[in-house]
Amino acid sequence: MILIKGGKPGDVLVEGGTISKIGKVAARGAETLDAKGLLVVPGLIDLHVHLREPGREDKETIASGAAAAVAGGFTSVATMANSGIPCDSAVGVTYVLARAREANLANVFPVGAVSKGLKGEELAEMGKMADAGAVAFSDDGQPIMNAELMRRALEYSRMLEKPIISHCEDATLTRGAVMNEGPISAQLGLRGWPNAAEAAMAARDVYLAALTGGRLHLQHVSARETVDIVRRAKKMGIRVTAEATPHHLTLTDECLRGYESRYKMCPPLRTRADVDAVVEGVADGTIDAIATDHAPHTVEEKEQELAACPNGVVGLETALGVVLSIKEIPFERIIDALTAAPARILGLKSKGRLEAGADADITLIDPRAAWTVDSSAFRSRGRSTPFEGMKLVGRAVRVVVGGRVCS
Ligand SMILES: [Zn+2]
Ligand SMILES: [Zn+2]
Repeated sequence: MILIKGGKPGDVLVEGGTISKIGKVAARGAETLDAKGLLVVPGLIDLHVHLREPGREDKETIASGAAAAVAGGFTSVATMANSGIPCDSAVGVTYVLARAREANLANVFPVGAVSKGLKGEELAEMGKMADAGAVAFSDDGQPIMNAELMRRALEYSRMLEKPIISHCEDATLTRGAVMNEGPISAQLGLRGWPNAAEAAMAARDVYLAALTGGRLHLQHVSARETVDIVRRAKKMGIRVTAEATPHHLTLTDECLRGYESRYKMCPPLRTRADVDAVVEGVADGTIDAIATDHAPHTVEEKEQELAACPNGVVGLETALGVVLSIKEIPFERIIDALTAAPARILGLKSKGRLEAGADADITLIDPRAAWTVDSSAFRSRGRSTPFEGMKLVGRAVRVVVGGRVCS
């Protein structure tokens, strides 16, 4: 029994793995966590991370990723299928779940591949993976260029009631691209990836979702045109949800002027007009969730020159502080985008809520804690962050997962 006492919105009593009471609670014999001056919120959920195991444990393991998650206030993460050995079978799903149980930190939910070997040719065994515990399906890391394959995946998603998570990129428009296509890429002499490569694919996927009745979730929305597509699709009643990352909500392609690899990710950082549109999309709920796209690489890989280094940055340990700095999004919406919204998208019915009867996944936030991002202190094996040295206010200070204090 744990009593979280004196926080906002009230005391929270945890019995077993469940929240049993909220409000003014007196419980004799309970372990007490002092939450005076702290905000008590449902455990944060990141529906988009890359934990790299099995196959690229030099970049991250399920254990190091789960440790980074709780350090950042996340009690649950959904890990993409593009680990060194793709998660495209029931065995792969079972492996991730077993490693997560051993790590015994954040909950780790496996996302199965849409296609066998992530090759974009043949559908993977989605039904068997769903039975084994996959919460969603995605070939993230690369787009599904074959529209017919995407159509069939969405048909299955409707039957399985699990979303297809789409990395929207028309790869024929982005070959060799290093950054956003625009005036800055032209000045720097770097090959660009246009907004249209994302928006065109988002539009295709939205119409395929309409055609099939399947559940579609769009990842890392970065282009203003994509925000418009999602807004219109929702008005039309199409079953689409979307996410944005902390970096696309705060940084622009101006960051690339120093040719630094810590600003290279896919999709790339866009213009101020795009950032403003994505922020507005999160603020008005068009974009349901905030997700990190935590994508660790080894230091050696990221140290290569910009054109050669891999896409991706880490995000679990900076996300909360970064998004709390966005004044255009109300605090309640930020928390919803990090809790209830991802729980709804992934179908995690007893998570994302601070209510009696819900799972005891709880995050305690100190909204006044001032701190500076220092990647050398990360629990993640990845060190490449676009937020290095940034001064932030607001931080998760305690995390309870399944009724157990984890940090
Ligand atoms: Zn992606
Ligand atoms: Zn990703």
